[in-house]
Amino acid sequence: MSEVIVELSDGSQSKFPVGTTLQDVLSSIDGIDADRAIAAKVDGELVDLTQKLERDCKLEIVTFDSDEGKETYWHSASHIMASAVQMLFPKAKFAIGPAINEGFYYDFDVDKPFTPDDLERIEEKMHKIIEMNLPFFRNEITKSEAVQLFTELDEKYKLEIMEDITDETVTVYRHGNFVDLCRGPHIANTGKIKAFKLLSIAGAYWHGDEKNKMLQRIYGIAFETQNELDDYLHKVEEAQKRDHRKLGKELDLFSLHEQEAGPGLVYWHPKGAAIRRVIEDFWKDEHVKRGYEIVITPHIAKADLWNTSGHYSFFRENMFVLEVEDQEYVLKPMNCPGHILIFQTKMRSYRELPIRYAELGTVYRYERSGTLTGMFRVRGFTQDDAHIFCTPEQAPDEILATIDLALFMLKTFGYEDYKIELAVRDPQNKDKYLGTDEMWEHAESALVTALKARDLSSTRMEGEAIFYGPKIDIKLMDAIGRAHQGPTIQFDFNEPKNFDVTYVGQDGQPHQVVMIHRVVLGSMERFFGGLIEHYAGAFPIWLAPVQARILPVTSDLNDYATHVKDEIAKSKLRVEADLRSEKLGFKIREAQLEKVPYMLIVGKREAEGKTASVRLRSGEDLGPMPIQSIVDKIKTEVDQKK
Ligand SMILES: [Zn+2]
Ligand SMILES: [Zn+2]
Repeated sequence: MSEVIVELSDGSQSKFPVGTTLQDVLSSIDGIDADRAIAAKVDGELVDLTQKLERDCKLEIVTFDSDEGKETYWHSASHIMASAVQMLFPKAKFAIGPAINEGFYYDFDVDKPFTPDDLERIEEKMHKIIEMNLPFFRNEITKSEAVQLFTELDEKYKLEIMEDITDETVTVYRHGNFVDLCRGPHIANTGKIKAFKLLSIAGAYWHGDEKNKMLQRIYGIAFETQNELDDYLHKVEEAQKRDHRKLGKELDLFSLHEQEAGPGLVYWHPKGAAIRRVIEDFWKDEHVKRGYEIVITPHIAKADLWNTSGHYSFFRENMFVLEVEDQEYVLKPMNCPGHILIFQTKMRSYRELPIRYAELGTVYRYERSGTLTGMFRVRGFTQDDAHIFCTPEQAPDEILATIDLALFMLKTFGYEDYKIELAVRDPQNKDKYLGTDEMWEHAESALVTALKARDLSSTRMEGEAIFYGPKIDIKLMDAIGRAHQGPTIQFDFNEPKNFDVTYVGQDGQPHQVVMIHRVVLGSMERFFGGLIEHYAGAFPIWLAPVQARILPVTSDLNDYATHVKDEIAKSKLRVEADLRSEKLGFKIREAQLEKVPYMLIVGKREAEGKTASVRLRSGEDLGPMPIQSIVDKIKTEVDQKK
């Protein structure tokens, strides 16, 4: 029998008879844990383990550790789920069942929505199918055979999908009695799925189009071990408890009014706005301290301005355009052109640079309604924006100072871990990018030097730079290990050129400025949403919307409670008194639920001694303290940003 040569990723080569399955190849090689194989790559192409060797090739094992491994695993689990649904609901029609970022789903056309009980029954059936360890069979058939097959099965969605396929042949995969139109690959046997859970049911329109029929979508997740599944479910539960949309409502921080006002627009309630004011005051003070000048620019400008900046041609589909007196106006999607207009009101000498304009600038971007999420993805948001205009020589110091400012601010908000990405040009495709080699090299070296100077490790992302300059992206890791988009420091070779932004150099000649766009928090909305989840709503005292609440034991102490409140308020602390005629225990529980840091309980004894009994939201009891001592204690903590 003829043999073929298989080369592994470590460069080693072995000979195998033609027709050996990839599973058998992997099993026979020392040092490869073939049990973990989910699929394989033959000359870079992802294929089933049941595929047979035909020619000399390079072979790679694909395990759950890789994105492709996870995708294959999860997608295969969706087939198993679909086959369970078919057994329990024989009339169900099958749409699509892809793997997603985390897990998988399948869309079914059924008579009535699934119930939680149905999910349990489907899970039970899936366990049985997995126990039976059924093999997945791959079949390549002609398109007309496939049309015949799915016509017989009365699967109209599969037939519709096939209308868009131009290939002569298609593949179908079968396990047990379930057959699906699918490109593959899949796991070799159903028994490969070791631990799974069906998570939720949702309505989903076919093709995401509300004119189509509403299908029933079931989401699920699967892992190689029960432990991993348990960890995942715990993380999801923790994330749900912290969900900023849920806590935002419970803590009365913000609301969205999709029906009345439109999607993706955030209404900040007094408590949310109180926190935002603290953040903004801190932000402004810190920027002024570090040599920024605060500016304010209008929310709309003529389309001409966005033509000059280049946004109109590159960003048109994300802009809200208005018609005013036969002129096109644009609701600003960016703050930069406004800052450039201010810069250009005078001739600028190199001696004046760097100039740093900072603005809490509210911008509007049209994002499709399906992509909007709580405060994380919205249509109107306030960027903590700034633009630095400097000479090439000044750029390295400016980058360093920006990184210092960014990390200082994030640390103050309790973020200690970061993932940093350095987005640079694709070296193979340099003509895709604006600006000279020299400009790119200079800018990149400024970014790299600054990261090195602060001992920050970063991942180099080639080809991830925007066409007009390299950038640093800092992702902040929250209390439960999720990454949120944070500071961005972006070089720009485009707008200075488009607007001809120059300064007069030492040689008396005009030179193009180096322009750096940067945000530290990103947007107030996204940052605040992240902050709610990071602290699970229990904001540190310097941010807490209510820092102390006075709780009189009985209503005859309301006068004293009001007096204590007024005394504390004199020190500009955010304080309330709960004067309702409710039981003390009830008031404490409510303050606790609202995560108020200081509960000050006043009874007869406290009124006589001019004190209040201090109870912390942690449950700790500090006993009676004189009012002034309480004020001093809270003020110290606020000053220390605790
Ligand atoms: Zn499939
Ligand atoms: Zn900008």
